[in-house]
Amino acid sequence: MTKFARSLRRAFLPALLLLCLLPAASFASADLPEYIRIGLKYGSTAVEYCDLRSESGFLIADFDQDEGFSEVLPLPAYKRVRITAENGCLVLRDESGVLLSADLGNNCILAYDYEDGGALGVAGGNYRGGIRCRIESSGRLTVINCLLLDEYVYGILNNEMSYTYPAEALKAQAVCARSFAACNLGRHSSYGFDICTTSHCQLYRGLDSERDNCTAAVDATHGEFLCVSGEPVPAYYATNSGGHTSNAEDVWGSPISYLRAKEDPYSPSFNWSYMVSREELQTRLESAGYSIGSLRTLEVTDRTDYGAVQALRMEGSSGTATLKKDNIRTVLGPNSVKSLFFTVAGEKEDQSEAYFALLTKKASEAVSQEYRLAAGKDIRTAALWFLQDCAREACDELDYSGPEPASGSFITFSGHGFGHGLGMSQQGAKAMAEQGFDYAEILEFYYTGAEVLACE
Ligand SMILES: [Zn+2]
Repeated sequence: MTKFARSLRRAFLPALLLLCLLPAASFASADLPEYIRIGLKYGSTAVEYCDLRSESGFLIADFDQDEGFSEVLPLPAYKRVRITAENGCLVLRDESGVLLSADLGNNCILAYDYEDGGALGVAGGNYRGGIRCRIESSGRLTVINCLLLDEYVYGILNNEMSYTYPAEALKAQAVCARSFAACNLGRHSSYGFDICTTSHCQLYRGLDSERDNCTAAVDATHGEFLCVSGEPVPAYYATNSGGHTSNAEDVWGSPISYLRAKEDPYSPSFNWSYMVSREELQTRLESAGYSIGSLRTLEVTDRTDYGAVQALRMEGSSGTATLKKDNIRTVLGPNSVKSLFFTVAGEKEDQSEAYFALLTKKASEAVSQEYRLAAGKDIRTAALWFLQDCAREACDELDYSGPEPASGSFITFSGHGFGHGLGMSQQGAKAMAEQGFDYAEILEFYYTGAEVLACE
């Protein structure tokens, strides 16, 4: 897989004629392997032993990331086997404990009918391809799923984007997922695999999470990658841009040519608010190494011209801390502070009507839920705290500098968008697909200067 040609994504004659006149764009970096290694269990989730199930029996095979599987030993008579570590070797036994292999080494175990799509039952799920284990220094086992790159993408697509999305959005997501994986090979090489199954890499759940229209989207874009200057790039994506994508340097600190801020008229509006007690915020700050004592004020001190928060300054009883860019969400919780497009109640320029409107709207549920919860279901205390918060906000607006508000008071972040805001907005991709854009147009909109190239 070394050469890339322009995608045949629009399979009509003029494009084909044009294609014949164009030189094939070549792919100059290292070869992409056909197969990928996914870490199902490792580190803190590593296992004592690995049980495998297959109704068709098993196969022990040598595995190579370019060549795939080559049979070493067929075991069609067995339905369940177990891999354990014994004296530093990986040992395979049947369910009665009879030894089948004294040293599996780097070999994979496959379902006997894997070539016909037979999957292995392992770790509570079903997986295509093969399973190999590795003994960690703790003596426990890393469990690795080795399979074709596109089979991997089958098993992530519905986890990263709902299978109910239109076909062109799913195709865009398939190209993103494949490109991200191809550019992150070896990310977990210290554990002997490429990609993990969590949102650290991409959410992979194997065969059980596959859906027919996701599989169709993967097949329809087989071999296609998001490329810049003829080379695949990791296609970062997020749920909702909030109406404006971000520059990579405004989120992570360093510029990336194809991750540029632009207005996004397609991403539907997504508003959020996050109400949190000062104690909870202090706890989060302390666990991230910021010990500033009792939290007094939060203030946004820097924003991009398109509104993404660049610096959040916090003053406490024994120090100050300034969180910058995406570290704000990392420290405070990316599912709580859902984007960098936010205001904080208490921030002077944002003592706005919007906040008070929000408070009014939230008042009944706030008193009955968050406040009541924090007050140990004592509704009178809850109501008192709520009123104290309202009073504190009013005082802040008047630039009042009296005593500190009572402990137990809450801070509200209000914002729009969900995710880091880099690259494709998944909800925007859905809207574009519904408006008739194809997946290449969706990707070229969200990734400045990028194009979809097919691997020959
Ligand atoms: Zn990972």
